[in-house]
Amino acid sequence: MPLEVLPGIAQKFSKYLRKLGIETVRDLLWHFPSRYEDFSQLRRVADLQPGEQSTIQGTIEEVNLRRTWRRNYTIVEAVIVDETGNIRAIWFNQPYIAHTLRVGRMANFAGKVSVSHEGELYLSSPAYELVSGREDREGGMPETRHTARLVPIYPETRGLTSKGLRFLIQPILKNIERASEWIPAEILKESDLPEINRALETIHFPKDIEDALIARKRFAFEDLFLLQLWNLREKLKLKEEKAHAIQTDMERLKGVIQKLPFTLTFSQKKSLWEILKDIGKATPMNRLLQGDVGSGKTVVAALAAIVAAERGFQTAFMAPTEILARQHFETLKNILLRIGISCETGFLTSTGAKIFYADGLEADIPKKEFREHLMRGEIKIAIGTHALIAESNEEQSLAFQNLALVIVDEQHRFGVAQRAALLGQKFKPHFLSMSATPIPRTLMLTVFGDLDISTITELPAGRKNIVTKIVPREERSNTYEFIRAEVRGGRQTFVICPRIEPDAINEPEVKIREFNKLELKSVKEEYEKLSKKIFPDLRVAMLHGQLKPKDKEKTMKDFTDGKTDVLVSTSVVEVGVDIRNATIMMIEGSERFGLAQLYQFRGRVGRGEHQSFCFLMSETKGAAAKERLKAIVEAKNGFELAEKDLKIRGPGQFLGESQSGLPDMAMRALADIELVKSSREAAQRTLAQSPNLKKYPLLGKKLSEFEKQIHLE
Ligand code: ADP
Ligand code: MG
Repeated sequence: MPLEVLPGIAQKFSKYLRKLGIETVRDLLWHFPSRYEDFSQLRRVADLQPGEQSTIQGTIEEVNLRRTWRRNYTIVEAVIVDETGNIRAIWFNQPYIAHTLRVGRMANFAGKVSVSHEGELYLSSPAYELVSGREDREGGMPETRHTARLVPIYPETRGLTSKGLRFLIQPILKNIERASEWIPAEILKESDLPEINRALETIHFPKDIEDALIARKRFAFEDLFLLQLWNLREKLKLKEEKAHAIQTDMERLKGVIQKLPFTLTFSQKKSLWEILKDIGKATPMNRLLQGDVGSGKTVVAALAAIVAAERGFQTAFMAPTEILARQHFETLKNILLRIGISCETGFLTSTGAKIFYADGLEADIPKKEFREHLMRGEIKIAIGTHALIAESNEEQSLAFQNLALVIVDEQHRFGVAQRAALLGQKFKPHFLSMSATPIPRTLMLTVFGDLDISTITELPAGRKNIVTKIVPREERSNTYEFIRAEVRGGRQTFVICPRIEPDAINEPEVKIREFNKLELKSVKEEYEKLSKKIFPDLRVAMLHGQLKPKDKEKTMKDFTDGKTDVLVSTSVVEVGVDIRNATIMMIEGSERFGLAQLYQFRGRVGRGEHQSFCFLMSETKGAAAKERLKAIVEAKNGFELAEKDLKIRGPGQFLGESQSGLPDMAMRALADIELVKSSREAAQRTLAQSPNLKKYPLLGKKLSEFEKQIHLE
């Protein structure tokens, strides 16, 4: 129903309502209060205490409108009396109030009791509401919206206050045709949740706070319940698809593992086993391999790809950047050479292609030839960025002969779109995603509930602890000296900056920054400063997303080959890059990054045999920021941090800021593990009753709406 059906009064508000994203009557009803103020206790004037939120009821004895000429304020002053005394109420710059309050009328006033210079109590800008004469009432309180009750406070916009919203919402609640209940009755009962119309009423105008909480719980449950249903259904759907069953020759695999230059950790073996078991089935795998940076996910994935290749199947191995893809290509080549298995491996970049032939030779080839090799099934493992699959969809240019396994590095899951790109084939590939950002448990159960998860819990033996320090401004020059000494000793350093270019910030802010001697940390400026002033004697390079792919590649390769000493970079090095000789990670403006992200950065060093260091440069004096950074210093593993990050920054950190598509309520509900569990059980029970939801048509409809609304990537 459009807003226009509301009686005249709403028309003039509709402009403001749109600003709040409210387009329909339903939107308005679903515009929930962000909190409540408790004005439920009527006080007598004589009992008012300074500092308290209170509601009084009394007769308006006097109303004055004054202007203060000097500052051009208007002040409305009213005197209210009840049996016990009188009190003044004051409003600034709301002259119209003088016309609404009429002397002799009875009204409720709710607000903070303040004390004037003269030590006199007064109500400052109280909410007010005229009440009808006492004789109209059959005892009890008159119906009020703004005072003398638990009052809803809404997200507001200029021109439309909570008071206005209450004014609009209350009549709708009374008059509108009832919303239809789509949660199965059994579920409501078992989970002890209020029916939808009751919940709507009480979330806006609760009797008491408990009442409000129960209503909120229902709405939080709604989203979680749908999310869980969606997850479970996705899982069921996948079970109906066909995939190539890739059998593993265990004896041969054991031989291969023995030839690796290191012993696999217990969790690497366990994860590999879980993956192999999955891809041995004729239904597609949808698994996430998670583990801290440096825990060795690549080799696990590579072994799975090799197993597939040995059975004649193709694997697409994708990374978010070309730098990383190149690293994976090198890793695979090394492993293949080492274990003595011949397997044609392709590497595709935006600029060209390479093939590592089965005979161990390597050559640059035209993309066209790459495609032919792929189509004929000769390339068994194709490594590249996401273009590997995207291209195959858009241009129909990259066709695999028998793609059986898709691996995506540094991603939590396959986007629906990515999966769709591979649709229409008779056999769906098995999916393996890898991520170094550990997912907190609640998110695992909810947002990622459609995935099976393998976790690498330990780092390979012999990894050294990375010395981590929060560095205040005063110690900056010492830190530079330390870096110089390390570089002289043959080591390399990353310097990470939050931005590529200096902020386009306004004049006053520049002044404030100058005044505080805050430096603007951007890659370009830092590069200038470090290469010219601080380390003119060292080889400094710069890396960021605006560089041409070719230049990025070259810069990274130079660093990997030890041709540069200091690499100033944005977060493009965040993911997966493995450089054994790099021992220092210096992070500028560290407050600006999420914990999980900082943790990732730190994981870029400490890969080799040398002691490594992470310097968190911190310019702010804020205690909260310090506290947050301390979590990194103390962190033993990424999971702990992930939980902390979830608390501090919310699920956006894990789902991609603001584009997770999850409703706000669900986002917040994710913090409530009990509700998460019960919604999951409810979803399971519902699907057990009716796998296709035929029994619950309203729920089925709701779920398809939800599906359109979310776009989990
Ligand atoms: P990530 O899980 O962050 O992707 P990588 O797969 O890049 O980690 O592995 C990090 C480094 O650890 C690589 O140089 C790899 O060769 C090495 N590595 C992997 N597994 C082991 C192991 N079991 N023992 C020792 N080193 C290992
Ligand atoms: Mg990796």
